[in-house]
Amino acid sequence: MTWETVIGLEVHVQLSTKTKLFSGASTSFGSEPNTQVDLIDLGLPGVLPVANKEAFYKAIRFGLATNAEINQVSMFDRKNYFYPDLPKGYQITQMEKPIVGKGSIVINVDGSEKLINITRAHLEEDAGKSIHDLFDGETGIDLNRAGTPLLEIVSEPEISNAKEAVAYFKAIHQLVTFLDICDGNMSQGSMRCDVNVSVKKVDDAILGTRAEIKNINSFKFIERAIHFEVARQIKLLEKGESIVQETRLYDSVKNETRSMRSKEAANDYRYFPEPDLLPVVISDNELEEIKSTLPELPKQKEIRFVNEHNLEESEAKILASSKAMANLFEDASEKTKDSSLIAKWLVGDVSALLNKDNISIEESKLSSINFAKLIERISDNTISGKIAKSVLEEVWISGNDIDAIIEEKGLVQIQDESVLEDIAKKIIDANPDQVNAYKGGKDRLFGFFVGQVMKETQGKANPQGVNKILKKLLNS
Ligand code: ADP
Ligand code: MG
Repeated sequence: MTWETVIGLEVHVQLSTKTKLFSGASTSFGSEPNTQVDLIDLGLPGVLPVANKEAFYKAIRFGLATNAEINQVSMFDRKNYFYPDLPKGYQITQMEKPIVGKGSIVINVDGSEKLINITRAHLEEDAGKSIHDLFDGETGIDLNRAGTPLLEIVSEPEISNAKEAVAYFKAIHQLVTFLDICDGNMSQGSMRCDVNVSVKKVDDAILGTRAEIKNINSFKFIERAIHFEVARQIKLLEKGESIVQETRLYDSVKNETRSMRSKEAANDYRYFPEPDLLPVVISDNELEEIKSTLPELPKQKEIRFVNEHNLEESEAKILASSKAMANLFEDASEKTKDSSLIAKWLVGDVSALLNKDNISIEESKLSSINFAKLIERISDNTISGKIAKSVLEEVWISGNDIDAIIEEKGLVQIQDESVLEDIAKKIIDANPDQVNAYKGGKDRLFGFFVGQVMKETQGKANPQGVNKILKKLLNS
């Protein structure tokens, strides 16, 4: 029997506003617990929230870039539930009239494109954090995150497998970082998603019952959670059992999903219009203003890279795949002008390392300054391409400064011809048989001598210099 997978994603994007959605407290990450908490975020009675316009502008940027309907009049609602990290006892969200309505985004899977419809994107406040692992037998509450603006982007159930789900999440990540509305930092939780998964028989007209896997914040875990969940559901259905609609948790250590609670229905939350906030009205002028400040989007960047830097289309696609990658390329291009060398390293070695670790540039330890320096050191002949590869691998692990690594490990390329000549002579003297064979016509042995010099210098000899000197010595 053939089963078909159906997936819908709810992506939570933390908007990079300076202050919270309804208070003047800072949204910056990593401060001492409970130091960025306003009376409003604490949920004290009698205080009134004030909506942050910047959050609306950022949400609208997303809407415009996904060809979505923008609701110029939108409203907030209360979603009531109890949790220790939600002191008010309700979350302010947009239920009836979200700021962004129906839109769409194109994803890329194995070279082919698919359009995924987006149902809506609404603004809501984030909750605080419960800290379970810091105190023995107790839970701490950190409200710094409470009230941080989130844009929740809800997809239609049109995603057909784990690969597409990852591609969709990546497309959203790419777009929100290009639009400068989110820092895209997944390890700090700036983007998280709930993955809704169901399976059905191919011929079935109606969708199967879904499980919702909560709060996943990495590409890898999205993929694994879906694989696990699809297999679990198919196994149950094939045994003749049914799927319970529920909320599940993905445990990355055990690589499994576990039931958290039965799925609550909308009426469990007693949604009602937020009485403390007026509807938010966006004027035509404001909308035009936001439209006029939309930045260059990935596709446009790709075309410009081809035209301005003479790159292959396939290279330009990879370089424009993320804002961080595009920035690495453009920053380094400004410094060294050798665009094709920069492109070669980004598309080759850097991309290979990213794929190996399955991370984005932001999560890597390679900064744009350090990358530009690496290219500079290759093009000014301080290090050879081969050494550069090992320097890059070192930066990848330590994040240390390129020049410091070159200095500390003594990796500077040997260019001094008299030094190279001494080493070459030593190799020639040590291998009389090979010299005779070479002189007797075995041309292929030239590579042997080059290899020996490289070995002797631990790869630091300048290859062109070595070739030149060996030719001179061996052919004399
Ligand atoms: P809730 O907020 O209760 O989770 P929504 O109606 O907002 O419910 O739907 C959430 C997500 O679930 C959407 O992304 C939607 O595409 C997806 N979804 C709905 N039905 C299914 C289904 N049968 N299988 C997979 N995904 C589904
Ligand atoms: Mg949901």
